Amino acid sequence: MISIKEFSQIEYLRPDVDALQNQVGAQISRLESASCYAEARAAYLAAENAMAEAFTMGTVAQIRNSLDTGDAFYDGEMKYINLVKARLIPLEKRGADALLSSRFRPDFEAEFGKQLLSGFELKRKLQSEAVVPDRITEGELSMKYKKTAAGCKTEFMGETCNFYGLMKHMESTDREIRKSAFLEWAKLYEGISDKLDDLYDKLISVRIDMAEKLGLSDYIEMAYLSMGRTDYTRDDTAAFRSQVRAVIVPAVAKLRKLQAKRLGVDSLKYYDETLLFPEGNADPIGGKDVLVPAASGMYHEMSAETGDFFDFMCKYELFDLDTRPGKQLGGYCTALYKYKAPYIFSNFNGTAADVGVLTHEAGHAFAGYTAFRNQPTVRYLASTNEINEIESMAMEHFAYPWIGDFFGTEKAEKARYSHLFNALAVIPYVAAVDEFQHLVFEHPEMSAAGRRDTWKRLENEYMPWRDYDGVAFLEGGGFWMQKLHIFLHPFYYIDYALAQTCAFELYGMMKKNRQAAWASYMKLCRSGGSLSYFELLDFAGLRNPFLEGSVENAVSHVIEELSVSQRDLEV
Ligand code: ZN
Repeated sequence: MISIKEFSQIEYLRPDVDALQNQVGAQISRLESASCYAEARAAYLAAENAMAEAFTMGTVAQIRNSLDTGDAFYDGEMKYINLVKARLIPLEKRGADALLSSRFRPDFEAEFGKQLLSGFELKRKLQSEAVVPDRITEGELSMKYKKTAAGCKTEFMGETCNFYGLMKHMESTDREIRKSAFLEWAKLYEGISDKLDDLYDKLISVRIDMAEKLGLSDYIEMAYLSMGRTDYTRDDTAAFRSQVRAVIVPAVAKLRKLQAKRLGVDSLKYYDETLLFPEGNADPIGGKDVLVPAASGMYHEMSAETGDFFDFMCKYELFDLDTRPGKQLGGYCTALYKYKAPYIFSNFNGTAADVGVLTHEAGHAFAGYTAFRNQPTVRYLASTNEINEIESMAMEHFAYPWIGDFFGTEKAEKARYSHLFNALAVIPYVAAVDEFQHLVFEHPEMSAAGRRDTWKRLENEYMPWRDYDGVAFLEGGGFWMQKLHIFLHPFYYIDYALAQTCAFELYGMMKKNRQAAWASYMKLCRSGGSLSYFELLDFAGLRNPFLEGSVENAVSHVIEELSVSQRDLEV
C-alpha cells in the first residue's frame, strides 16, 4: 500500500545524511554477515529502500527548485543535496561489493535475475577515486558550455531572441522571415564557434584521460559502459548506421523533394525544412485546459491501465505544464520512488511539442508507473535509453486515433503526417551525429578544422538534401556545433534512432492488430529494467534493430504511408 499525497502537500524533509549512512551501513554489515538468504535479502532491500526514500526527498527539492528557480529555500537545498551526493558514493560502492561477493549471490540471481548483479558489476568498472577530479573538470566544462550557449542573444523583429526564439521564426510561413531568422541563427553560432571548439577540445581530452585511468581501451568503451550498453558494440552501431544509409536516407531525400514541391520552392533550403505545409504547421487547438482533458479522454479509451495511470497523475498533481516567469526552461519526466509516482515537468508553448509532452513524456511516465507496480526492486524501474525511448515513442503512435482531439478534426491528417514524417526524417541526422562522435574519439588528434571536414562529409552522406544557401560557416561543416548532446551527453543519441526503429515496428503491428501491439508494449512496460536490452526486445516480440533487414522491415510501411498521404494532402 502506497501512501501518497498531492505533490503540493508532500512535506519536504532534508535527508539526514549521517543517519542515512548509519542506517544503510548497518544493513550492509547485515548483508555481509547474513547466515541465510532471507536475512541477506531483507538487508539488501532495506538498504535499497532507505536510499530510495532519501532520493525521493532529493527529487522533491529538485522539482520544486525547477518550478520556481527564484525560491531561495529549494535553491539552497539543491546545493546541499549535490554536495552530500558525493559523500554517499563510498557507501554505494560498499553496498555493491557486499552484494557481488555475497555467498548468497546465486540466490539473488535466482530470484531477481542476473540483470541486478550485472548492473552493479558494470557500475563498479566505472567507479574509481582516480577519476573524481576529471569528473569535476568535465562538469565545469559542461557548465561553461551551457553558459556560452545560453548567453547568445540577438535582436530579431523587435524582440530579444536566443537560439530557441530564432528557431520558432524559422517555422514562419513567410520565407523571407525564415531566411533572415536562419542567417541570424547561423551568425550567433559562428560568433561562439572558437569558444565551442576550445571547450570541445578540453572535453575530449578529459574524457580520454578518464578512460585511460579506468584501464579501458578508449573513451568509446567507457561511454558504452556508462550507458549500460551490455548487449552491443561499436561494430553493431556501425552496421545499424549502414542500414540507415541504405534504407532511410534515400526515402527521406524523396520526401524532401515532395516537401519542396508542396511549399512551392525550387530547392529546399535548410530554413525550409521545418515548415511542412505552405499554410503553416499544425498547432494544437488550445493550452493546458483543453489538452489535459483531451489526454484524459484518450487514455481512458486507450486501455484500463492508461486510464488508471492518468487519473493517478491528475489526482496527485503530478504534472506542471504551463510556462511561468521564474520556471526552469525545457521539460522532463522524473520519478518519486517512495510514492511510486512519475512526475512530468514542461513549458507549454502552443506548438505540437505540447501534445508531445502528453504522449511522449506521458509514455515514459506510464512505463515507470507500470514498472513500479510490477517490479520488486527500484533498480528495475527503468531500462536503458534504447528501451525507455521505445515506451515513449510508441505511445506517440498509439495516440494517432485521437490526434484530432488535440489538433482539431480538420488538421488531424496534417498533424499525423507531420509527426510521422519528423520521426523518420530525423533518423539520418541522429546517425550522422553518432558516426561523428565515433570518428572524433577514434582520432583524438583531429583538429577543429578536421572536425568540420568530417561533419561536412557525413552531412553529404546522411543528408544529401541539406542546403545552407551559401552560408560559408555551415557549408564548411559548422553545423555539428549546435548539437548539445555532443558536448553534454556523448554517444547518447543513437538510442533515439534504435528506439524509433522498434517504435515503427510496433506502429506497423498497430495497423494490423492493435491488440497484439498493445500486448507487446505492455510486456515492455511491465518488465522495466529487469532484463537486458536484447532480452527485453525478445520478450516483447520485437526484432533486434542491429540485424540486417530490421530497419527495412520496420520502416517500409512508414515510407509507404508517407508517400500515400502526401498525395492525399496535395489535393
Ligand atoms: Zn524520451
